[in-house]
Amino acid sequence: MKKKWLFVLMAGMMLTTAACNNGGSSSTGGESKGSEAASGSTPQVGVAIYKFDDTFMTGVRNAMSDAADGVAKLDIVDSQNAQPTQNEKIDLFISKKYSSMIINPVDRTAAGVIIDKAKTANTPVVFLNREPIAEDMNKWDKVYYVGAKAEESGTISGQLIVDYWKANPKADKNGDGKLQYVLLQGEPGHQDAELRTKFSVQAIQDAGIEVEALAVDTAMWDRVKGQEKMQAFLASHGDKIEAVLANNDDMALGAIEALKAAGYFSGDKYMPVVGVDATAPAIQALEDGTLLGTVLNDAKSQGKASVAIAAALSKGETPNKDNTGFDITDGKYVWIAYKKITKDNIADAK
Ligand code: BGC
Ligand code: CA
Repeated sequence: MKKKWLFVLMAGMMLTTAACNNGGSSSTGGESKGSEAASGSTPQVGVAIYKFDDTFMTGVRNAMSDAADGVAKLDIVDSQNAQPTQNEKIDLFISKKYSSMIINPVDRTAAGVIIDKAKTANTPVVFLNREPIAEDMNKWDKVYYVGAKAEESGTISGQLIVDYWKANPKADKNGDGKLQYVLLQGEPGHQDAELRTKFSVQAIQDAGIEVEALAVDTAMWDRVKGQEKMQAFLASHGDKIEAVLANNDDMALGAIEALKAAGYFSGDKYMPVVGVDATAPAIQALEDGTLLGTVLNDAKSQGKASVAIAAALSKGETPNKDNTGFDITDGKYVWIAYKKITKDNIADAK
């Protein structure tokens, strides 16, 4: 009889613990990292996203929430595209004694300051999507980065244009043997913007195609800005444009809107447009035949890896393949592969 009551009591206690772990983003801030590790309870992880209003990062955010189920309790906050705001959020994570942090920096050059704070508080940090410079990454051994090799996505998006150019002799609209292109860049200073731009053009040249840049401008990863910039490109270059390269899908989709308004994608008026990410609306555009191709930027794996690394660090473990499921390069990097996506392999992106 006694045993039975003890069992009921223990079951009740376990339920209460579970309820606490699932209850919102509040934290008692009382328990120390050590006791969490020792008791084996779900670790509290602070997550700061550069801004919630970003299509790709929204995918990563959702992937993190899914991956955290039963592994970690995430407190995900919006840095509203302001580094000072993000720094305040980080101070709050530290004062709440969270066991680790996942940071998607607003300004990747701010990583050094963030690492100093984290190190002083002994709160391990996983950076995500915006890569700190190596010098900052080397400041502390409890600093990790999860991302994808920007140059790889650039090369693949260039190859999408090469494939089109080679398969369609009429792609050279003015018949001068050169590819006249316009390019929509992401945020200046972002490794993905700089390297996608460089390597996409490089891939076209490496295929033996001569290029001429008609216009290159930033649209800040943003769909509306992409549309506005493309309108301006069309106003000044019109039919001279033979291809549109965009550093991400949102800007590519904005460009497609502007092109539609100028009569493209109806009758035989066509423009090859490529992006990066393989977001849901981009996949739709592939199906519609407006977007030529994109590059899968694997939000799901990036979210999953970030949570797995943060969870291992929270437990005081050194992240490795066994405790995270991901390969760690140079002791601190997780590289998620990109993949070429066209209408022929849409399933790979879904
Ligand atoms: C994505 C963009 C996104 C940016 C945010 C890039 O990797 O391709 O769509 O806006 O990250 O930092
Ligand atoms: Ca030409």
